[in-house]
Amino acid sequence: MSAQILDGIGLARQIRASLKERTEALRRRGVVPRLEVIVATQDPASVAYVRMKRKWCELAGLESGAFEVDAGTSQSQLLEQIHRLNEDPRVHGVLIQHPLPKHLDEHEALLALGAEKDVDGITPQSLGRLVADLPGFRSATPLGIVTLLDHHGIDLQGRRALVIGRSVILGKPMALLLLQRHATVTIAHSRTRDLPELCRQSDLVVAAVGRAEMVRGDWLQPGAVVVDAGYNRVEGRDTDVGDVHFESAARVASWITPVPGGVGPMTVASLLANTVAAAERAAGA
Ligand code: NAP
Repeated sequence: MSAQILDGIGLARQIRASLKERTEALRRRGVVPRLEVIVATQDPASVAYVRMKRKWCELAGLESGAFEVDAGTSQSQLLEQIHRLNEDPRVHGVLIQHPLPKHLDEHEALLALGAEKDVDGITPQSLGRLVADLPGFRSATPLGIVTLLDHHGIDLQGRRALVIGRSVILGKPMALLLLQRHATVTIAHSRTRDLPELCRQSDLVVAAVGRAEMVRGDWLQPGAVVVDAGYNRVEGRDTDVGDVHFESAARVASWITPVPGGVGPMTVASLLANTVAAAERAAGA
C-alpha cells in the first residue's frame, strides 16, 4: 500500500475533545447543549447509528433525547413533535434519521423543521443556503469530509473532483462544498457513461454510491485522493465495506479513507459540532 490514511477516527476524537471544552463553557453559563433525534424503531441500522450518536453526545458533554416513530405513528403526531422541538428553547439541534417508515412523509417533516435547529443540514432551507453561499448548517457527512481534507492540508483549488452519487443528503451537498473550495466538480450517477474513465481523469474521487467495492484501483489516476463515504453490509463479511475496493485503490492513491474509520466518525463529529454551534448561538456566545 502506498496511500496515506485519512484517519477519521483520530480527527473526530480531537474534535470531540474540543467540543467537550466548549460544552463545559456553555454549562458554566447555564446552557446544556441538547440534540434530539427522530428515529424509526423498526430500522436496525438507524437504531444502531442513533445509539452511537447518543454515546458521542455523552462523551462530548451534550444531552440527547429520542422520539421513536413506528407503524403506529401518524404524520400529524410527527409534525406536532417537530413543532414542539422547534419551540423548545432547551433543544438546540434536531436530527431526522433517514429512513422514516414509508407511511410518513419525510419531505414534509424536513420542511417543518426550523433551519436554526437543522444540525444535519439537510432541510430544503439549509440546502438552499448552501446553494446561495449563505451561512447555515452544512450537511454532516459532506462537512465531515471537507473537514478531514482540510485537516490534512489537501488543497482543492483548481483540482478535478468527481463525486459519484447525487443524493440530497450526500452527493449534491458534497459537490457544492467542493465547488466552494474552488474544485472543478463533476457529479456522476447511475446513468453516467464510462465512469472508470471519468475517475481516471480526477484528482479527487468521492464515492457515495452504496455499492460495495465498486471503485477499483485501476479506475484511479496515480496519486488521486480517494474518499469513501459508502457503508455496505456484505453477507459473510465481519465488517461493513465501502464503495471503494480498498486494497487495490490504496496501491494507487496518495490519500484514502478507510471503512470503517474514515467518513463515518467525521459525520458524527460534524453533527455534534453543528449542535454545539447552535447552542452557542442561542446563548449569544
Ligand atoms: P442513495 O440515496 O442511494 O444514492 C446513491 C447514489 O449513487 C445515487 O445518486 C445513484 O444514482 C448513484 N449510483 C447508484 N449506482 C450507481 C452506479 N452503478 N454508478 C454510478 N452511480 C451510481 O445513497 P446515499 O444516501 O447518498 O448513500 C451513499 C452511500 O453512503 C451508502 O453506502 C450509505 O450507506 C453511505 N452513507 C454514509 C454516511 C456516513 O456517515 N458514512 C452517511 C450517509 C450515507 P441515481 O441518482 O441515478 O440513482
